[in-house]
Amino acid sequence: MMPTHSSPPVGTVYIVGSGPGDLDLLTLRAARLIGEADAIVYDHLIADGVLELARADAEKIYVGKKSSNHTVPQEQLNQLLVRLARAGRMVVRLKGGDPFVFGRGGEEIETLVESGIPFEVVPGVTAAAGCAAYSGIPLTHRDHAQAVAFATGHLKDGTINLDWPALARPKLTVVFYMGVGGLAEICRQMIAHGLPASHPAAVVQHGTTRRQRVLTADLASLPERVEAAGIGSPALIIVGTVVRLQEKLAWFQPPSGSGT
Ligand code: SAH
Repeated sequence: MMPTHSSPPVGTVYIVGSGPGDLDLLTLRAARLIGEADAIVYDHLIADGVLELARADAEKIYVGKKSSNHTVPQEQLNQLLVRLARAGRMVVRLKGGDPFVFGRGGEEIETLVESGIPFEVVPGVTAAAGCAAYSGIPLTHRDHAQAVAFATGHLKDGTINLDWPALARPKLTVVFYMGVGGLAEICRQMIAHGLPASHPAAVVQHGTTRRQRVLTADLASLPERVEAAGIGSPALIIVGTVVRLQEKLAWFQPPSGSGT
């Protein structure tokens, strides 16, 4: 559509990562853009308190999704961003963690590119980095892991479609996003593809927040332990011998009994 002299200049869409939960982990750039935006389109897993940085008159649109229960279909969401920008608004598309790590940032940008909408991407602290730091589990360590892999543990039709032989490797740390529902399957596959049942593994729920819970075990016992502890989403699964360091390196103590 060619702009006419009466249409406003097209607004920019900023795809912004809000970090893993602790508001202090927001980047300065994210905070500044959120404070300036005309419209904020946000998800379920954004840092608590982040919307309070927005202008009082900014339009705040929730498009969150919980697991596979998508509130707004992706295509509709992509079109919403295009519509807001064409109306001349400065749009912040706010996402949990980093927009380019299991954040569908790429999909949303494709529509913007095709529609000729200017955009920028603002990185955020991804859940793996946040949970590693706040649980005391370094993702790499000279004695333990020379590489780290981020994988999606999303369970579909009872299976997880991953390259298990590539993930079940010594000296590798694997971080599974969206994996609590498929935890038993993840642990089973990692053992079936060569890791010992005693290989260390951890779950970090609500990492970096007051609700953070960390549970360390091994591949054989983790699913049972997590179930007994009632740990659910959002949580990350970290598999690797780096998990052994947690006992020594844990420093973050969320206030006990806060439960909120
Ligand atoms: N783009 C996000 C990830 C979105 S996928 C990022 O870069 O972090 C959503 C998954 O991220 C959740 O299912 C969970 O596995 C993980 N996650 C997000 N926030 C988390 C948190 N505070 N603690 C633990 N896991 C978290």
